[in-house]
Amino acid sequence: MMPNLQDHDTFYRTFNWQKERDKLAGLPNGKGLNIAFEAVERHAGGPLNDTVALRWLRKDKSVEEVTYSDLQKRTSQFANVLEHLGVAKGNTVFSFAGRIPELYIVALGTLKKTAVFCPLFSVFGPEPVWQRLSRGNAKVLVTTTALFNKTVQQILDRLPSLQYILLTDTETNLSERVLSLPGLMKNASDQFTIPPTDPETPALLHFTSGTTGMPKGALHVHQAILTHYATGKYVLDFHPGDIFWCTADPGWVTGTSYGIIAPLVNGVTNIVDEEEFDAARWYSILEKQKVNVWYTAPTAIRRLMRMDIRPREQYDLKNLRLMLSVGEPLHADAVVWCQKTFEVPVLDNWWQTETGGIMIANFASLPVKPGSMGKPLPGVEATIAEVSETGIQIITEAGKQGNLVLKKGFPSMFRAYLNDEERYNKCFRGDWYITGDLAKKDADGYFWFVGRADDIIKTSGHMVGPFEVESTLTQHPAVAEAAVIGKPDPNIGELVKAFVVLKNGNAANDDLKLDIIAFARKKMGPAVAPKELSFVENLPKTKSGKILRRLLKARELGLPEGDLSTLEQG
Ligand code: ATP
Ligand code: MG
Repeated sequence: MMPNLQDHDTFYRTFNWQKERDKLAGLPNGKGLNIAFEAVERHAGGPLNDTVALRWLRKDKSVEEVTYSDLQKRTSQFANVLEHLGVAKGNTVFSFAGRIPELYIVALGTLKKTAVFCPLFSVFGPEPVWQRLSRGNAKVLVTTTALFNKTVQQILDRLPSLQYILLTDTETNLSERVLSLPGLMKNASDQFTIPPTDPETPALLHFTSGTTGMPKGALHVHQAILTHYATGKYVLDFHPGDIFWCTADPGWVTGTSYGIIAPLVNGVTNIVDEEEFDAARWYSILEKQKVNVWYTAPTAIRRLMRMDIRPREQYDLKNLRLMLSVGEPLHADAVVWCQKTFEVPVLDNWWQTETGGIMIANFASLPVKPGSMGKPLPGVEATIAEVSETGIQIITEAGKQGNLVLKKGFPSMFRAYLNDEERYNKCFRGDWYITGDLAKKDADGYFWFVGRADDIIKTSGHMVGPFEVESTLTQHPAVAEAAVIGKPDPNIGELVKAFVVLKNGNAANDDLKLDIIAFARKKMGPAVAPKELSFVENLPKTKSGKILRRLLKARELGLPEGDLSTLEQG
C-alpha cells in the first residue's frame, strides 16, 4: 500500500495548514471549528455512518461496537446532559475511569458542548486525583461506582467547586450531587447542535507525566484537530478501512490525541482494550482484530522483548502494516528487534503533552535510521539551538547537540499552563518554544534524542546524555533495561552511575557488573561509560511508564523523594 506521504522533503517544503483545514468540514455556515464535529458528526452524516468507530474489548474479551452514527447520538445525549446540569462553555469536565465506552462518549460530548475535557488515569490514588481536580477547577466528574467509593468520596469535602459527580454504572442517584449517568442519558435527547466554536476555544486540559517534577496542566484549543488529522494521515498513515490500536490510556495525552481523536477524525476503526498489558492478550488482539496500524510505547516494547514469544510463528499478524512508538527513546536495538519480529516498519516519533500531537517522526516512506526519532512533521519547524535568557542561537552544524526548539504556529501548540503564566512565558523566546529536551540533527535532517536538559550529566568536562549511555548498556546481551544518572563527585563534577535490570536467567554478580562496565567502556570510551553500576529488580517509573531518573537520583543521594511518592505512586 502506498503511504499517504510519499516524499517527505518535497511535501515539507510545500505544506501549509490551510490546505489541511480545507479537507475538514468546519461547522455548518462558517460557525468555526470543533473537534467533535470533525471526529464524529462529519462521518455520521456521510458514507461512514455505519462504520465502526470504536470497537471495545471488555476484560472478558467480549466486544461492544459503536458506529459513527451511534457515537453521534450518544455524544449528543451527553452534551444535553451537560446542558441540563448548567455546564457552560469553558467549564471543565473530568473523567476518572478505565477504558470504558463512557469515557469516549464523555470526551466527545464535552467537546460538543464547548466545555473543556480533562481525563485522569484510573490508577491514581486520592491525592493525585484531588490535586488535578482542584487545580483544574472541575465542575463535573464522571467516574465509576468502584472508583467513587475507593478514591473520590474521601476527597469530596475538599472540592467545593465540583458540582456534580456522575456515576457510569448505577441507575439511582446517591444524592443531589452524586447522580446516575445512565439515568441522565435516558432522559436526554440524542439531537444536539454544536454551538459556534472559534478555533481558539479551549478544548482539552492534559496533565504532563511528571517525569521531571510536579505535573503541569497544558491547555489545548479546538484548532488542535488539524494536527490530529494531519499526523493521523501522514504519520500513522491511515487509509480507509484501517483498524487502529493505540495502547496508551486516555489519561495521558497520547491516549486522547491518538486513542480518541486522530483515528476518528480520519474515519478509521479504533480498537479500545479495557485490560492492562498482557503479552499473549496483546498478540491475540493484533491477530483477531486484524490490526493494521499499532501505536505503542518503548516500555511495552521492552516488556515484549523480555518474553520468549515468537509472535510471527504463533500468531497470524499479516494485517499489521505499521508499528509506531512514542513516550521515551526507542533504542536502536528495540527498533531492530521490532523490525525482525513483526516484519513491518517501526516508526519512533517524538512529541510532548505541550505540543498536543506528533512533531518529529519517522515516516513510512523514509528510510528508518534506528535510534533516530526522524524528521519534523510538515507544518512544524524544529531546530537545534543554544538558548539564553533572552533569545536563541540556531546551531547549523550537523551533529552538534543543543536544545530542541519548535517554532510557534502549528495548531496544537498548548496555549497555557494551568494557573502558571510565568512558567508558560519562560518556555518561549520570541516565536520559539523551548521543549526542555536536548537533541542533535544529522546532515540528512534526522533528529536524534540526547536527553532531557535537566538530566544531562556533566562529567570530566563532557556533557553526557543518559540516553546514549542507556542505549549502549541495553546492547549488552544480559541487560534488559538501564537508567543512568549523574552523581555529584568532587573530582569530576558528576560521575555516571547506571542502574541495570537484567534479563531473566542472568545472575547479578560482580563479574557480570565488571563485564557490563567493560562493554560500555569499549563502546563509549572511559570518560562517558558508567563508573558505578547497581543491579535493580525494576526501574522506578511514572504511571505512564517513563523512567524516573530524578527518583533514582534522590534515592542515591539520600534526598527527600518530594511530592513524587504521593503523586505518581499514590
Ligand atoms: P513532565 O513534563 O511532567 O516532566 P514528561 O515530559 O515526561 O513529564 P510528557 O509530555 O508525557 O511528560 O512527555 C514528553 C517527553 O517524553 C518529551 O519531552 C521527551 O523527553 C520524552 N519523549 C517523548 N517521545 C520521545 C521519543 N520518541 N524519544 C525520546 N524521548 C521522547
Ligand atoms: Mg515534559
